[in-house]
Amino acid sequence: MRLLADLHTHTLASGHAYSTATELSVAARRVGLELIAITDHGPACPGAPEQWYFWNLKVLPSIIDGVRILKGCEANPADSASGIDLPDTILEQLDFVAVGFHPETGFDQRDRARNTEALLRVMANPNVDMITHPGNDHEFPLELATVVDEAAARGVILELNDHTFAPTSCRASSNHREREFAEAAMAAGAPIAVNSDAHFANQVGHCEAALAVAEEIGLAEERIVNRTAESVLAHLLARRARPRLDHGGVWETGAGGVA
Ligand SMILES: [Zn+2]
Ligand SMILES: [Zn+2]
Repeated sequence: MRLLADLHTHTLASGHAYSTATELSVAARRVGLELIAITDHGPACPGAPEQWYFWNLKVLPSIIDGVRILKGCEANPADSASGIDLPDTILEQLDFVAVGFHPETGFDQRDRARNTEALLRVMANPNVDMITHPGNDHEFPLELATVVDEAAARGVILELNDHTFAPTSCRASSNHREREFAEAAMAAGAPIAVNSDAHFANQVGHCEAALAVAEEIGLAEERIVNRTAESVLAHLLARRARPRLDHGGVWETGAGGVA
């Protein structure tokens, strides 16, 4: 199984990642990817950028070094009008909105019911496309069936996160739960993506551990959203209109691209 898109990458703007958007794109091209989503951490994460960083992502080219760039975020659940740590006025301008739980963002109590309730609010926001690393049961426990059923009903992608299976990951101790989420998502018909969660350019597109899990559980390639750039864009545009993808993001032209 070979995936040509990676929907979860971080630039040094995240505060604890170490490559630029251009470096991520060059690395993506080298490993044969057609598309990456740049998903820096939302403002609630320590060291993450403020709202203005996400608002001004429109200045990034839609293609860098021949790779289609989705300008996105990995936001955090929050007690706000949008249910997230970015307002809807910004979210609706992004190409791709991922949301996940992270330390020191207000959910460190390991309260399964509260976390699940917060995530249901997140998924009720039509701007939200993907939930990252849902199997982080050690730090942010969730009611699996409730989350998976809601994701299936709303067409929200559940991620099978490669970094979760790295021995150095803070999520490694509960990575069996990431597998259980993928199995349940598969059974329930929820969209699934397999992503690197790269925090350095050499990790972009490397999802070997997660793909091994996908094969073990019998996850068919056609069930994975990020097979190709085309499969990603078809999924996203079927969910809601995207100003950048519809108008500024005509990637065949290469307009605005950096050679
Ligand atoms: Zn994350
Ligand atoms: Zn991440």
